[in-house]
Amino acid sequence: MPVLSIVLPAYNEEMNIANTAETLAKLLEEQGIEYELVFVSDGSKDNTYAEILKVSQQNPRIKGAEFSRNFGKEAGIFAGLELTTGDAVIVMDCDLQHPPEAIPEMWRLWKNGAEVVEGIKTSRGKESLGHKLSAGLFYKIMSRLIKMDMNASSDFKLLDRKVVNVLLELPERNTFFRALSFWAGFRTEKVTYEVQERQYGESKWSFWSLMKYAISNATSFSTLPLQLVTIMGIISILFSAILAVQTLVRFLMGNAVEGFTTVILLILIIGGFLMLSLGIIGHYIARIYEEVKGRPKYIISKVTDNVQGDVVGAWKRNGRNGKDYD
Ligand code: UDP
Ligand code: MG
Repeated sequence: MPVLSIVLPAYNEEMNIANTAETLAKLLEEQGIEYELVFVSDGSKDNTYAEILKVSQQNPRIKGAEFSRNFGKEAGIFAGLELTTGDAVIVMDCDLQHPPEAIPEMWRLWKNGAEVVEGIKTSRGKESLGHKLSAGLFYKIMSRLIKMDMNASSDFKLLDRKVVNVLLELPERNTFFRALSFWAGFRTEKVTYEVQERQYGESKWSFWSLMKYAISNATSFSTLPLQLVTIMGIISILFSAILAVQTLVRFLMGNAVEGFTTVILLILIIGGFLMLSLGIIGHYIARIYEEVKGRPKYIISKVTDNVQGDVVGAWKRNGRNGKDYD
């Protein structure tokens, strides 16, 4: 019997764990799907891990891990993928905003040969206006940069074991899970779903964390901002050529004393362009520096008893960094 693994990253979700575990277990048992649930507590400051431990003791199909600190949802997803053993893996939020009812349909599509099943949002659910606007802007920019329509995509998706292995082999640290399944290719199907209301607790994304997420993902998927530097350079060269001609003409005509305004403006404009360009280049250098250091994406501090292998610590599959447990 094929096994379905479900990865659930959780950060300060103590109130959701038991409910989510029960809802999913009930649904999957009803559907006759062999399953395992993998909860990854992302360095939660509340009792999330204690809750995970509790549900894992009640149901041997549930396992979990705790990070040594908050590493972010991406890291949680990848740690979860790493711990799965199933033939197909679904990644979903543990606040039940991704409706479990979509799981049987995803499973059916996978059984019929789909290797990736993308969860596509039909609506963004009830969110504050600010959140809606910033999320909207974020997806616009992302879709442009990645050249894929990201607007309705989400982290809710099913991946075949083959695809999971591909993603786990990627050596990069700055991953963007949502876009990586597009990038990887494979036979893709879609399932539309309506974003549900959060069960308990509140969203962890603020405007600034979303902006940071946007910039880091945009630069991990595109070098367009670097080309922007070149474009700005060309614009300023054209601009200065015109001004050079004008200045020379004025000099030859003998009235070159005026023009402090021009000088001040030029210094400001060029200075601005230069600093912006340096900032963009600096950002990429920082990313390269991070990647070159080769630190692991996450550090696991605890795992439930039913997790196979010695995964505590800075675990990295490729063995490039520390231990190799393949
Ligand atoms: N999450 C995480 N680490 C973080 C932030 C969030 O693992 O640093 C998890 C969170 O527990 C939830 C999912 O990512 O399961 C989505 O987060 P949230 O519900 O806050 O985002 P939203 O649904 O508002 O986009
Ligand atoms: Mg949510």
